[in-house]
Amino acid sequence: MTHTRSSKSSIMSFSFKSDSSHRSIRSATTASSGASITPSILGPKSSSPFKVVIVGAGVGGLVMALCLERAGIDYVVLERAQQLPVPKSMIQLSANTLRALEQLGLLDEILAISKPVASVRLRKQNMTVVGEMDGKWTKERYGYHICLAPRSEFCQIILSHLPPHKVQWGRYVLDIVNGNGGVQCRCANGQVEQGDILVGADGAHSAVRQNLYRSLREKNMLPKPDMEPLKFTLNAIMGLTDPMDLEQFPNAGAQFCDVDIIVGKDAYFTIWITSAPGNRFIWSVGGEILTPEGSNDTNFKQSEFGPEGIDAACALIQDLPIPGGGTMADMLQNTKKDCLTKIMVEEKHYTTWYHGRTVLVGEACHKFVPFSGQGAEQAILDVVCLVNLLFRVRDNPSHGDFCTAFENYVFQRSPVAKDAVATSGAMSHLMNSQGFAADFKRKVVFNLPEFIRLASYDKISVRPLLDFLPPIEDRGYKKSKAVKEK
Ligand SMILES: Cc1cc2nc3c(=O)[nH]c(=O)nc-3n(C[C@H](O)[C@H](O)[C@H](O)COP(=O)(O)OP(=O)(O)OC[C@H]3O[C@@H](n4cnc5c(N)ncnc54)[C@H](O)[C@@H]3O)c2cc1C
Repeated sequence: MTHTRSSKSSIMSFSFKSDSSHRSIRSATTASSGASITPSILGPKSSSPFKVVIVGAGVGGLVMALCLERAGIDYVVLERAQQLPVPKSMIQLSANTLRALEQLGLLDEILAISKPVASVRLRKQNMTVVGEMDGKWTKERYGYHICLAPRSEFCQIILSHLPPHKVQWGRYVLDIVNGNGGVQCRCANGQVEQGDILVGADGAHSAVRQNLYRSLREKNMLPKPDMEPLKFTLNAIMGLTDPMDLEQFPNAGAQFCDVDIIVGKDAYFTIWITSAPGNRFIWSVGGEILTPEGSNDTNFKQSEFGPEGIDAACALIQDLPIPGGGTMADMLQNTKKDCLTKIMVEEKHYTTWYHGRTVLVGEACHKFVPFSGQGAEQAILDVVCLVNLLFRVRDNPSHGDFCTAFENYVFQRSPVAKDAVATSGAMSHLMNSQGFAADFKRKVVFNLPEFIRLASYDKISVRPLLDFLPPIEDRGYKKSKAVKEK
C-alpha cells in the first residue's frame, strides 16, 4: 500500500484497511496485549509495525516525529506553513522535559540557543520590587536549570535531526476520516495521506480536533464542556527585539535571565520582560490598555491585529515604564514588525483526547495562557508518554491495541494537564488583576516560605524518559517520581 495519494475525490469515498506490508518482526520483548509490558531491549524496532500521520510541525509535532524516528516507527508530518516562522516567541523548558530531550541527544544544542532563568520578579508600576522567586536552585534539585529558548530555533534543531522528506511543508489539513482500520487526511492541495493512526499536533485551533469533535457531536458522543469555545481572558502584544546595544542595555547580555513582571496602577496593564538569548529581550504587554473603549465585543477580541492595529497597539503601550529607567518605546524601537505578535490570552482543557484512530497532543487538547511557560513543556510531556505507549503496541496491532494505548495516555496525561491549565490560568488572572485584594494576593504568592514553594515544585517534578532509549542519570538530588499507569 502506498500511503500518499493525490486525489480530488471526496475523502469520504475512500475505504481502507489496516496495512500488513509494514508489519514488523518484533523482538522477543513484544507485548502480547497492548500497553502493559516494558520492553527490555533498547533501541529502535527493526521495522515499523504501523504508520503515524502527524498534523502540525510545531513543538509537539516535531518532538513526536523525532521520538518515532528513534523508536523505529514510521511517520510523516504534515504542516500548513511553508517553513518555520521567524523567531518571535520563546518557549520554556525545565527538568521535566530536558531529561528526555537529553536522551534524544539534543541537550547541548538546546542549551546553546537558550538562557537559564535566574529569577522572576514582581514589580509595581514605580518599579518597587514586591517579591522575587529565585530559580537557580532547580539545577541542583532537579538536574537542570529552567531555560528560555526561541521557539523557531528549537524547532529548527529538531528538524535538523529528521530526514527532510518526513516533514511535508505547505500541507494544510482540511478533513480527516477516522475509521476502525486506519485514518486518512486530506490537505488543501488535494493530497491524501493515509496511516494507521493520526496525531493531531496542530495547536490551539486544531483542525484535527474540530473534525473529530464534529463527527462525535453528530453521534451525540461529545461531552458538553468540549462544545464550549476556548476561554478568552485578554489581549496582549508580544515582541522579540533585535540584539541590543550592550552599553545601553547591559542586562540583555546577562548569562542568566531575570523575568520582570510589572503590574500597572494608573492604567490596567501587565508587562512581562526578560533578556533572551542573543542579547535580545522578549516582552509582552497585556490587559485592558489594549482594548480600546467601546470595543469590548467578541469580534474585536477574536480578530488579529492588522498593520494599523499593530501601530495603534504600540502607541498605547510606548510610554509604559520598564526596569532600568526606560520605557516600552525602547523595546518597540528595537523590535521589527514581523517580530511582533498579537496574542489572545485563552485557556482550556478538553476532556476528549482521542477517538478511534485519532489522538490529540499539546495545545490541540490543552491550551495554556501564553505567559505560563507550560505550552511547550506539556506538549513534550504528552509526546513522551504517548510514544512510550505506542512503542509497546504489538506487531500487527488491532484497533483495540491502539485504543488501549490511547486510554492509558489520557489516564496518565489528562489530569496533569488539567491541573496545569487551572494553575496557569489562576496565575495569569492574578497577574492581570487590579485592586487591593489582587495586590495582597500577589505579595503573598511572591513571598511564600521556601518549603511551600519547593513542595509545590516537587509535586509536579516528573522528568519522564523514553523507555526505548538508554536512560539518562537522574542528576537532581530530589529524585523524579515514577509514572502511574492504568
Ligand atoms: C507561531 C507561534 C507562536 C507562538 N508563540 C507563543 C508564545 O509566544 N508563548 C507561548 O507560550 N506559546 C506560544 N505558542 C504556542 C507554543 O509554541 C505551544 O504551546 C507549544 O509549542 C506546544 O504547542 P503544539 O506543538 O501543541 O502546537 P503549536 O506549537 O501551536 O504548533 C501547531 C502547528 O500546527 C500547524 N497547523 C495548524 N493547523 C494545521 C492544519 N490544519 N494543517 C497542518 N498544520 C497545521 C501550525 O502551523 C503549527 O506549526 C506559539 C505557537 C505558534 C504556532
